[in-house]
Amino acid sequence: MAGVSYPYPYEAKVSQTLFDRASLVTPGGVNSPVRAFRAVGGTPRFMVSGTGPYLTDADGREYVDLVCSWGPMILGHAHPAVVEAIQAAVVRGTSFGTPGEGEVALAEEIVARIAPVEQVRLVSSGTEATMSAIRLARGFTGRAKIVKFAGCYHGHVDSLLAAAGSGLATFALPDTPGVTGAQAGDTIVLPYNDLEAVRAAFAAHPDEIACVITEAAPGNMGVVTPGEGFNQGLADLCRANGALYISDEVMTGFRTSRAGWYGVDGVEPDLMTFGKVMGGGFPAAAFGGRADVMGHLAPAGPVYQAGTLSGNPIATAAGLAQLRLLDDAAYRKVDAVSAQVQALVTEALTKEGVAHRLQTASNMFSVFFTEDEVRNYDDAKKQEAFRFNGFFHSMLAQGVYLPPSAFESWFVSTAHDDKAIERIAAALPAAARAAAEATA
Ligand code: PLP
Repeated sequence: MAGVSYPYPYEAKVSQTLFDRASLVTPGGVNSPVRAFRAVGGTPRFMVSGTGPYLTDADGREYVDLVCSWGPMILGHAHPAVVEAIQAAVVRGTSFGTPGEGEVALAEEIVARIAPVEQVRLVSSGTEATMSAIRLARGFTGRAKIVKFAGCYHGHVDSLLAAAGSGLATFALPDTPGVTGAQAGDTIVLPYNDLEAVRAAFAAHPDEIACVITEAAPGNMGVVTPGEGFNQGLADLCRANGALYISDEVMTGFRTSRAGWYGVDGVEPDLMTFGKVMGGGFPAAAFGGRADVMGHLAPAGPVYQAGTLSGNPIATAAGLAQLRLLDDAAYRKVDAVSAQVQALVTEALTKEGVAHRLQTASNMFSVFFTEDEVRNYDDAKKQEAFRFNGFFHSMLAQGVYLPPSAFESWFVSTAHDDKAIERIAAALPAAARAAAEATA
């Protein structure tokens, strides 16, 4: 970062060497933008291993991990039962291009947990899940337009890369080159938590809107909790206007409760999308919902969707093993860890007089550097994000790995034990001081 020097002498020498090599052969040196540390500056850490709540980088430094691979690693890294399931699956072969029992078992587990999901189709990434759900909604309704909310990120689907959060929030890109007017032209972007705006959009475009897609509880502009009645209002408006309500639970699914955010607010979507936790750290994702809608998918129906590696046997074995370990006790543990970390962060920032606000969606949470409630993307952008950089680098230097952006959720796991939490507690006072001393 221009004008900022971080007083932490330890060198990420091996990571820097790897980053230099990577930058020659990969754009920006990374395979997903937020990993590059552009928002916070410095050298991205190349990780070589993970165990429980810890990551170890290529220089041999250990970190308490508060990113958990952006959500999937809810049992911590290399959980023995998940590793065992992967090992058992891998020796039987890695991909068959035929149906297999693992896919059936994973689909059954998802259907059993989430009442509105009667049928599910497995895919390989959250992006694919939302892209396919939108296509299905358009195919089912025969309508073209879709509604999304500013600050909600649904993967890098062309039509959904308008006012998206996540890496785009980090880089404040309003849009991206490469998405044509035609691809984004049927996307109506509205402010989050504003039912009136949704009502007005339906009134302005009668019989034209195929679906409303929303993050069940947004985590990609930082965590912004849906206001009382917002999700139900979306479901009601969709039903009244012949559109489908798509709840994107790629981040919240199987994390915020056994049944994801649906398990928290009980609002019934027509279609839902999943990823992250259900893949156990492998590329597995899904979309599902009403059987009459899902029945429109090929080969049962006319809407085409496919994937060479969909339902991959290793990915389904890992996901199923992880989901089977996620009982009520596991969620109680993740919730408790989250509450502990939140309390420590608040205590440290309050002591240093740093204006901040923690926002939560069950055990997902993020720290906004503002005292005002953040209800939408505009509010999120008003925070003093510059305070995050010093905070982040201080934590990093003290062995705590945070998401490298002020616009992301933090994630914890069942593996975060007292020792890991003590390390976080020990690091916070200096990090809070760095946030207090930061200047724009
Ligand atoms: N939807 C939401 C809510 C997400 O948070 C993400 C990724 O962070 C996606 C979709 C895209 O998932 P993937 O990165 O697996 O393509």
